[in-house]
Amino acid sequence: MAFGGIQKNSLIDYPGKISCVLFLSGCNFTCPYCHNPDLVRNTSPVLLEETEVYRFLESRRTFLDGVVVSGGEPTLYPGLKSLLKKIKEIGYPLKLDTNGSNPSVIKNLIDEGLVDYIAMDIKTDPALYFFFAKYGCEPADILSSIKIIMDSGIDYEFRTTCVKPFISRPVIEKISSIIKGAKLYVLQHFQNKNVLDPDFFAAEDCGFSEDALLELKAAAEPFVENCIIR
Ligand code: SF4
Repeated sequence: MAFGGIQKNSLIDYPGKISCVLFLSGCNFTCPYCHNPDLVRNTSPVLLEETEVYRFLESRRTFLDGVVVSGGEPTLYPGLKSLLKKIKEIGYPLKLDTNGSNPSVIKNLIDEGLVDYIAMDIKTDPALYFFFAKYGCEPADILSSIKIIMDSGIDYEFRTTCVKPFISRPVIEKISSIIKGAKLYVLQHFQNKNVLDPDFFAAEDCGFSEDALLELKAAAEPFVENCIIR
C-alpha cells in the first residue's frame, strides 16, 4: 500500500468529525486541475508503512473521530479492503473519497460495511469523461457508482469542481438530473495553484466568480435535497 501522504488531523474532510486523512498514490484519471499532482504521477515518496499508519491511528483513538481514505484513487488498490478492515477494527468510522470509476469495488466495500461515508467526484457530464479518464472509464461506470451510492443507505456527497470548459449551467443541470434526489451536492471552487497541468490554465481564468457559482447552485437546487458551495 503506497501511502503518499497523511494529514494527521483535519476539521474539514469528514463532515462533523475530526479526521485523519490518508492519501494513496496513483490515479487512473488526469484531471488538469488536480491538486495532488505528485500522487497522481506516483512521484511522491512512500511516506509511511502500513504498520506505522495503524500505530498512529491507535495512538490517536481518543482524539480523532474518523479516518478519510483519499488519493489519488483509492479503489485502484487491491489491498484497500484489508486497509479499511484494519482501520475499522481500530474503531474508526471511515470516509472514502473516489472518482467513481470502479463501481464494483464501491459496492463491495458498502456491502461489507467497510465505509460510512462516500464522497464521489462528478467531473462533468459522464458522456464527456474521455477528457479526464485517459486510461479509460465508461460513462456507464460513473452512472453505476452514482446509483450504488444513492441506494446504499450510508451518508454520501457528490461534488463537482467548477472549472471551465468542463462545467457550465447546462452541464450542472445534466449532472443534477442524474443525481436527482441526492442528499448533498457540493459545488467546489477551482483554485489555480499546484495543479496537475498548469499550462491548461495559463491562457485564461477558468474559475467561476461567487455570483456565477450561486447561479450554478440555483440550477442544481431543484434536483437535490441540499446543494452547497465549498
Ligand atoms: S480523480 Fe482526483 S486524484 Fe485523480 S487526477 Fe482527478 S482530481 Fe486528481
